[in-house]
Amino acid sequence: MKEDFKSLIELNDYFKEEKTCHEFLAFQIWKEGKPVCPFCGSTHIYVTKSRSLKPSKNGVPEYRCANKDCTKKFSVTKGTIFEASKISLRTWYASIYLLTSGKKGISSVQLADQLHVTQKTAWFLNHRIREMYKEAAPELLNGIIEADETYVGGKNKNRHANKKKGGSVGGRPQPDDKTPVVGLLQRDGKVLTFVLPNTTAEILHPIMLNHLPPGSTLITDSFKSYYGLENHYTHIKVKPDPDTYKTGGELHTNGIENFWSTFKRGYVGIYHYMSPKHLHRYTNEFGYRFNNREYSGVEKFADVVKNSGKVRLNYKKLVGNKISPQKLAQMNIKWAEENPIDWRDTINPDQAPIAD
Ligand SMILES: [Zn+2]
Repeated sequence: MKEDFKSLIELNDYFKEEKTCHEFLAFQIWKEGKPVCPFCGSTHIYVTKSRSLKPSKNGVPEYRCANKDCTKKFSVTKGTIFEASKISLRTWYASIYLLTSGKKGISSVQLADQLHVTQKTAWFLNHRIREMYKEAAPELLNGIIEADETYVGGKNKNRHANKKKGGSVGGRPQPDDKTPVVGLLQRDGKVLTFVLPNTTAEILHPIMLNHLPPGSTLITDSFKSYYGLENHYTHIKVKPDPDTYKTGGELHTNGIENFWSTFKRGYVGIYHYMSPKHLHRYTNEFGYRFNNREYSGVEKFADVVKNSGKVRLNYKKLVGNKISPQKLAQMNIKWAEENPIDWRDTINPDQAPIAD
């Protein structure tokens, strides 16, 4: 395929035909683009020529499994995030490219404008793509890891002091209209983010224990909820100090603090609002861009398309190995019901609440 797309126009030129989009997907999710039956795993597959030749199908191939106990028909989108979508792959690809290749993301307002789709469609596309980012996140970090939490949303700073809501955990105020998130960042490596119900040790410690191998070096500030982690790690507590970084010192949490400030600039400059329910998807998005910062726009684009197939594995995991098309359709409907369009995401930027 083409080595790089310098713009959305170039991408759209390359993926002019749905057929090209389907071929590209086949090469991302199947070894050498050779079809694999999504029902039984067989690689003995026929192309059902009659349907592929229909003009209404735009030359998009349909396959049939040659395993005589299976014989099911499928297309390359079967079981991927694109399955049963009324949106063309060309539009999906353009959205993936725009959300992934930009430095700061793209709001549903801007995306709708660029793709000539409704804001509702753009919002849906963006959130599904963020799910694919999650599939690319690492499970484990190691070496020197910086951890730091931050608080997202709410308007607490605008309230009069004595009306501020929320209690305190470990000596740190907990505004109850903000959602806490914690980030773990491997020095010169990748970041993992987690949306939290609160920042108590009961919540924070299992996250560390699940994602950092024993013996790692953990650097945090002196927040009390991190106390006790020295039983598992070389735990260093530092005071926030920007000068440590400048002088080449290693004992700082500047990496993760910088990650959160990029995130907050995106919040203020691009999104204006993130509902707590969808916050993990936005942190996925910023995490993905950070973790793949070394890659070109087109490499990131191809990687995300590849993950459209991994999302399929998760569906299978949820319901066991056999999944009927009816069941998958029901799950898609359920997903849509559980993730209703939040119109605040599309708020007029001029009237949007600005968070800190
Ligand atoms: Zn089969």
